[in-house]
Amino acid sequence: THGNQTLYTLLKKQAERYKDKPFIEFEEETISYREMLERVNRTARWLKDKDIQKGDMVAVFLANAPVFYEMWYACGALGAVLLPINTASTPTELEYFLDHSESRGFLYDERLVGEGHIKIVKERDLTFVQMTGNLFNKEREDYSAVEVTCEADATDVACIMYTSGTTAKPKGVLITHENYMFAGHSSVLYQQLTPDDRYLIFLPLFHANSQYYTSMAMLVVGGTIILRKRFSSSEFWEVVERYRPTATSLVATVIKMLLELPEQGKEKKHTLKRAGYGLFVPYPELQTFQDRFSIKLYQWYGMTETITTNIVTPLYEEMVRDRDTGIVSIGKAGLGHEVKIIGPDGKEVPTGEVGQILIKGPSMMKGYFKNPEATAQTLQDGWLHTGDSGYMNEEGFIWFVDRSKDMIKRAGENISSIEVENVLSEHPAVQDCAVVGEPDKLREEAVIAYVKLHNGQEVNPEELKAYCKKHLSYFKVPQEFRIIDDFPRTSIGKIQKNLLRKK
Ligand code: ATP
Ligand code: MG
Repeated sequence: THGNQTLYTLLKKQAERYKDKPFIEFEEETISYREMLERVNRTARWLKDKDIQKGDMVAVFLANAPVFYEMWYACGALGAVLLPINTASTPTELEYFLDHSESRGFLYDERLVGEGHIKIVKERDLTFVQMTGNLFNKEREDYSAVEVTCEADATDVACIMYTSGTTAKPKGVLITHENYMFAGHSSVLYQQLTPDDRYLIFLPLFHANSQYYTSMAMLVVGGTIILRKRFSSSEFWEVVERYRPTATSLVATVIKMLLELPEQGKEKKHTLKRAGYGLFVPYPELQTFQDRFSIKLYQWYGMTETITTNIVTPLYEEMVRDRDTGIVSIGKAGLGHEVKIIGPDGKEVPTGEVGQILIKGPSMMKGYFKNPEATAQTLQDGWLHTGDSGYMNEEGFIWFVDRSKDMIKRAGENISSIEVENVLSEHPAVQDCAVVGEPDKLREEAVIAYVKLHNGQEVNPEELKAYCKKHLSYFKVPQEFRIIDDFPRTSIGKIQKNLLRKK
């Protein structure tokens, strides 16, 4: 355990210890640990002045910027609850988040919200609606930077994070200070981070990975965050050259985009030694990436509900691959976690068989906010039902097979869309692909492949079919190949298969 440590007491401790050491480097700004604490103190007083009390929800609609951290920790100091809203949210989605959470305040970035959003906000009886920027900064300068008394306990809720909503309406996950401490400590351990590490963060801060895996790790270890508004492949190597990060966290699309870049020279000599990555990437791409950029990759796996992306131990040395498919294992159950695979009857399946991945451990959520039904379905006897399909080998290595909802059912067979994508993406013309099931009169579902080609490439669908036939059992071969320019994606770059499927 971490005693009664909270976000605020941890920041205070780090400010005493690391003083003027940079905590965040963002564009032209460098914010030291001490300065972050001062900003948080002012912000906490400002929030209090706006009548934000312990237990109140405070919604933020922000692009990646230091003010996100200021609000996060200031809410933490007051025992209030931060609600980070996905900035791709429509006014209707915003309405859902505000009402479901009963938020009392709203801080937003002017460039991200439209009239529709403002209308929704104005209709509600909030204690404050505030825009970020110079005025907000000036206003806070009137408040004292002297330390505040922490009103939160370790077991209090610090944040409500809504799931990405890839498969269903977003569900609110309550995260306590204690949860954050565990996430940070395990992330430091798993990534072997030290105070000398400089972590490049460009994934959105309202997403689980940026909170659990990267931001908390840096706060816990006393490292430096290099914060970017968003990922830009064309600027990537310049950013690396300028800010000298030692580690970063990637997702599948980012890996693909970096591999598409022409040689620049910068990618040969740089400070970036290692990177966590998540979401499915075929092994040859991982290999090429590691060789071409000299960056060691290791996988994270987790979800908003597990309150950490360190459910599994990273495979630092050799990646472990499935003998038949060549797909890389996500790792073994890690640090205090148990994993089991169950069948539809709820019983554990034999080694090697596919079933639902269940996780038990110290970092699981307590439940979904105001959603007892979903909570009861997801959490049973402390076992978190991930809704992900996978299998385990004799040594305990786990493979992610698919989201259960994305598995394709065809004439009595269950097909992993990822297994088909794994084969199809090896075709030289294919840059990215997504395989989905669509209703089919004869065989329950038809296998449909959406394919994005490399720049300037052309290919006949018959050739793709022939290629798949060579490498896959006949029933897994897609019936149809649809060439598209890009995929609908979530804010961290997951392909939204529910939007691809023809209803
Ligand atoms: P919702 O639950 O609202 O539909 P979501 O599941 O996409 O949204 P997150 O909690 O952000 O929301 O994502 C967790 C999911 O991401 C996991 O359940 C899994 O399906 C997928 N995922 C995470 N890590 C990996 C990985 N290493 N490989 C493949 N998929 C992964
Ligand atoms: Mg989910």
